[in-house]
Amino acid sequence: MSKRDYYEVLGLSSGATEREIKKAYKRLAMKFHPDRTKGDKDKEEQFKEVKEAYEVLNDDQKRAAYDQYGHAAFEQGGHGGGGGFGGGFGGGGFDDIFSDIFGGGRSRGGQSHNRRGSDLRYNLDLTLEEAVKGKTVELKVPTYVNCEPCDGSGAKKGSSASTCSTCHGHGQVQMRQGLFAVQQTCPTCSGRGKVIKDPCTKCRGQGRVEKTKTLSAKIPAGVDTGDRIRLSGEGEAGEMGAPAGDLYVQVNVRDHKIFVRDENNLYCEVPISFTSAALGGEIEVPTLEGKVKLKIPSETQTGKMFRLRGKGVKSVRSSMTGDLMCKVVIETPVNLNSEQKELLTKLQESMGEGKAAGHNRPKEQGFFDGVKTFFDNLK
Ligand SMILES: [Zn+2]
Ligand SMILES: [Zn+2]
Repeated sequence: MSKRDYYEVLGLSSGATEREIKKAYKRLAMKFHPDRTKGDKDKEEQFKEVKEAYEVLNDDQKRAAYDQYGHAAFEQGGHGGGGGFGGGFGGGGFDDIFSDIFGGGRSRGGQSHNRRGSDLRYNLDLTLEEAVKGKTVELKVPTYVNCEPCDGSGAKKGSSASTCSTCHGHGQVQMRQGLFAVQQTCPTCSGRGKVIKDPCTKCRGQGRVEKTKTLSAKIPAGVDTGDRIRLSGEGEAGEMGAPAGDLYVQVNVRDHKIFVRDENNLYCEVPISFTSAALGGEIEVPTLEGKVKLKIPSETQTGKMFRLRGKGVKSVRSSMTGDLMCKVVIETPVNLNSEQKELLTKLQESMGEGKAAGHNRPKEQGFFDGVKTFFDNLK
């Protein structure tokens, strides 16, 4: 069976960045995931192909081996026992895809020898006001931090890790597989390149310990739901002094009582009396900075939208500021007393019926004319 090139499977060039690989994988995995393509064998095969390509290209060492030797790097049984690599489609749900993408997992299943700490995601809920103005937030993040007694080395104080004698510190060993020389993770040090004879008792040689870390993050003004803020190096500490991962703050803006946000514009509905709508006047409308006055022309109809320039949200990405869109809704008066009813009856009489009313109520007149024509045409 000849296999397709892994880059081709993901629709990428060989120079693709880690980000592009993740993005392509996410898109294709969603498309072909068995949860979505129930029973379609072809699609399931494509899903396996995509997953396999991703597992190789997303791992620095496997990718390097693949770039050098192609599929032969793995077909010769070069990769160590089991581990679920290469054929193991476990039928996992969407969760495992997302944890792959966002690095939510605690460890990478023990398959990866990348000692860099995992990236973490923190879900942050903000009110609309906080999102618009920006905020410094305090985050409590359960994570791994560098172990203090051994300063992240994993070796007991006073001792140090020694270079692995099997791989001489490379973390990789060359194995001959027929015609090919295959790079393999060193079995002695599991790819770390170092061996600890006398491990630190606090972290048991890991160089890092679990801890809930408190840090403050500055959320810029104008963020919106779906925005991610990267705090470089604030993810999990790496093993044995390796670099830490990043922390991603995922923003979610809660619904607001008055305003609905669309990009940088805000929308709201303002009820007005039918008399103000008819006579015109000034009404008060809410903005995020307080009330402002808005002139309503006479003969304003319900549903009319008024734009207040610059009263929306200042964009987080540019100097643009959105607008506030106010939709006026005419409210029918309720709980009328007899005097008010009398006045309204007088008003109604003065507007008249039939053709005469069309002068004051053109929409209504137009509508009934339309209905009449409709019925006439049915005959
Ligand atoms: Zn080694
Ligand atoms: Zn330690």
